[in-house]
Amino acid sequence: MVAMSNHPESLDGGKQVKQIGIIHHDAVVTTSCSNSVESSSGDCTSASTGGTGNASGASASERLEKGHLQYGCSHYRRRCRIRAPCCNEIFDCRHCHNEAKNSMDVESLHRHDLPRHELQLIICSLCGTEQEVRQACINCGVSMGKYFCETCKFFDDDTSKQNYHCNGCGICRTGGQENSFHCYKCGCCYSITLKDSHLCVEGAMHHDCPVCFEYLFESTTDVTVLPCGHTIHVNCLKEMQHHLQYACPLCSKSVCDMSKVWDKLDKAIAATPMPEFYSNKMVGILCNDCGAHSDVPFHVVGRKCPNCRSYNTRQK
Ligand SMILES: [Zn+2]
Ligand SMILES: [Zn+2]
Ligand SMILES: [Zn+2]
Ligand SMILES: [Zn+2]
Ligand SMILES: [Zn+2]
Ligand SMILES: [Zn+2]
Ligand SMILES: [Zn+2]
Ligand SMILES: [Zn+2]
Repeated sequence: MVAMSNHPESLDGGKQVKQIGIIHHDAVVTTSCSNSVESSSGDCTSASTGGTGNASGASASERLEKGHLQYGCSHYRRRCRIRAPCCNEIFDCRHCHNEAKNSMDVESLHRHDLPRHELQLIICSLCGTEQEVRQACINCGVSMGKYFCETCKFFDDDTSKQNYHCNGCGICRTGGQENSFHCYKCGCCYSITLKDSHLCVEGAMHHDCPVCFEYLFESTTDVTVLPCGHTIHVNCLKEMQHHLQYACPLCSKSVCDMSKVWDKLDKAIAATPMPEFYSNKMVGILCNDCGAHSDVPFHVVGRKCPNCRSYNTRQK
């Protein structure tokens, strides 16, 4: 497709590209769209706050709140650690486990990811009691995660991420249930702003990013929907544009509104007459944007689709 140095309305503003929600493993983050993985808003209130606990004198709510946001790892704020069901070792979270167990130091045969749904045992970060997965510590009564999803066995003390559990996705996502909706065709949660405006592609999110090949459904970094309906990481799209690539890697359609670029190319062509030798030379083209086949005059600057005025065309 045509490269241009001066892109009209950069995508940074998110105007042309519709931001989808982002997805996280354990609470996926959302951009303007939103949704991450992991969380279930309904269940999280069912903490077992009933026990009297051992903490002397403190009220139940004081016990629950103790240590809030003071524990965790680089991935999550939470007040428990997990015993990995696969290797029986203790880690702060499943990402910590996966990083450790998939590092270059581990023999390739022994590398593995933690089977998240098999998690059974956690260790309270305040009192050290090992116990079955639950929200409130069976010994000291502390809430081990202000957000807790029983289905995902997911804990998060950082409520600003607005974790929620999506039954359609089957995982917890971030970004707030009220800001998102689950599209059953695309198979993922998107920002409510995309509800009537996105192009549905069957299983759109159940694919790898076409640039970095990470599985998008479980990605914890921001994902966006292109006008063609294909999905890609926001950062991978930026990287593409940085290298002056403005066509979808999957279908070659333009990834944003290119009309200002086409205006510039119109002017460049008008200002650059081809030598007489070429004046009658015609070439057959296929438009990547609208799919029209046409015969157009040959020009070194570009080949314009007469149907939709795009220069994102290929010579046949
Ligand atoms: Zn971690
Ligand atoms: Zn405890
Ligand atoms: Zn969940
Ligand atoms: Zn969903
Ligand atoms: Zn959809
Ligand atoms: Zn990517
Ligand atoms: Zn596409
Ligand atoms: Zn066209």
